[in-house]
Amino acid sequence: MKTRAQSRGRCEFCGMETNKGGMVRHLQKCAKINDILERSNDQKSSKKVYYHLGVEDAYSKIFWFNLEMAGSETLEYLDAYLRAIWLECCDHLSEFNVGGWGGKTLDMETKVGVIFKPGLEITHFYDFGTTSETKVKILDSRIGKPLSKHPLTLLARNIAPEYKCVNCGKKARWLCMECLRENNTWETFCDECVEKHTNKEYGEAIPLVNSPRLGMCGYTGPAVPPY
Ligand SMILES: [Zn+2]
Ligand SMILES: [Zn+2]
Ligand SMILES: [Zn+2]
Ligand SMILES: [Zn+2]
Repeated sequence: MKTRAQSRGRCEFCGMETNKGGMVRHLQKCAKINDILERSNDQKSSKKVYYHLGVEDAYSKIFWFNLEMAGSETLEYLDAYLRAIWLECCDHLSEFNVGGWGGKTLDMETKVGVIFKPGLEITHFYDFGTTSETKVKILDSRIGKPLSKHPLTLLARNIAPEYKCVNCGKKARWLCMECLRENNTWETFCDECVEKHTNKEYGEAIPLVNSPRLGMCGYTGPAVPPY
């Protein structure tokens, strides 16, 4: 896949943009996040353990995001989130394990607080035919109040990579699946040029979305987080 080696991301709380490493440092001191946590300290809800997760595609590392997740939630919940934001095409099987291919499979029903600890890395596999592999690293944990009303909170995400139209150089919005499948070439097109591009035997071109699964199996997005 032709993409830039580096990718920047945006903090979901304050909008600050920086690279992957800079984002981990930013999230620890983000004024907006700290403000929410300070105010929520007055609320009556009980304190829980929350884990800060760094998520990235194992091969296209320009696709990444940071999440916070309550220890009382299960791996199944994280699986559902990964499917929604990045992966879901035809309801394939998926699995989490420790140690990568051939590693120890983790039970989806497991509460993450039982297994997560800072420094641990687990791998998520989606679809055992055309497999997507996602690395989930537990970066940090805290005991306190939730950041949002959801069991998972998106903290930051990579900014969608930009592609140019192979025909005219304008901003591309479409990927031709036939060129990819038949010639293994990554050909992206703008709205105008995609109309003139004649390869349509394998269906229409698909929209370029912010997902490492773009071009794999029947994936067409939309690559938007469920919340
Ligand atoms: Zn921020
Ligand atoms: Zn599929
Ligand atoms: Zn064009
Ligand atoms: Zn084509």
